Amino acid sequence: MKRGDQLYSGKAKTVFLTDEPNRLILHFRNDTSAFDGEKTAQLDRKGLVNNKFNAFIMSKLEQAGIKTHFDRLKSDTESVVKRLDMVPIECVVRNIAAGSICKRYGVVEGIDLHPPTFEFFLKDDARHDPMVNEYHIRAFGWASEEEVAQMKASTFQVNTVLSELFASGGMLLVDFKLEFGRYGGELLLGDEFTPDGCRIWDAETREKLDKDRFRRDLGGVVEAYEQVAARLGVPLE
Ligand code: ADP
Ligand code: UDP
Repeated sequence: MKRGDQLYSGKAKTVFLTDEPNRLILHFRNDTSAFDGEKTAQLDRKGLVNNKFNAFIMSKLEQAGIKTHFDRLKSDTESVVKRLDMVPIECVVRNIAAGSICKRYGVVEGIDLHPPTFEFFLKDDARHDPMVNEYHIRAFGWASEEEVAQMKASTFQVNTVLSELFASGGMLLVDFKLEFGRYGGELLLGDEFTPDGCRIWDAETREKLDKDRFRRDLGGVVEAYEQVAARLGVPLE
């Protein structure tokens, strides 16, 4: 497969066309960003670690019957994926309160959420990804009623599968963000699942092992991602 023109360059990945019209190449870069792109840095090895981490998780999700865009690893920092018509919505599930939900509602970080809590956000950095509900999504035509229901059901299914997976490595899956897109008549899980887009804590010490290390200047960002990968058995080399 040949890498073609660049289609889009985001904050952490670059998307390329290929010689197959329904396939794209995702290039995971070392760039990292937080606070809607206000804080940025280059972190050595992050592209490689996230590319391989994502491939491992997407394969686990496929094995559990969740349809994803993932096709195959192409190189250390690139993957081949199905070309989706992305829904401009971020789907977030939270098992434990952290991040924006604590600021928004004045709740303490670390409390268990029963039931796990679901939120939709509009993917729009300029507007700081505002929270939206399913009526906004349908009324503004971002997705249909059926797609909304599918995104929600699929995100909860991912939560069940991955909470168990992280627990098996002695970790808590605190929260995570997913993006979906259309492919033919189907809705598939797109984008990525890496420690850039979720919160993972050590189950005993509650040490942060995700992008909060970058947001809060805790250091050892990629080292923490590698620790998570090692505990899950993700092959990095
Ligand atoms: P952002 O756009 O938030 O800065 P990235 O740097 O990760 O994020 O850029 C990757 C972009 O590619 C995102 O906008 C994402 O929605 C999009 N994308 C992810 N998977 C696919 C896919 N299979 N088909 C088309 N676009 C995709
Ligand atoms: N998240 C993400 N991209 C975003 C917003 C959030 O990947 O644009 C992830 C984030 O890493 C966390 C979860 O979604 O795992 C919930 O994020 P939150 O709403 O708490 O916002 P944050 O505190 O990360 O700004």
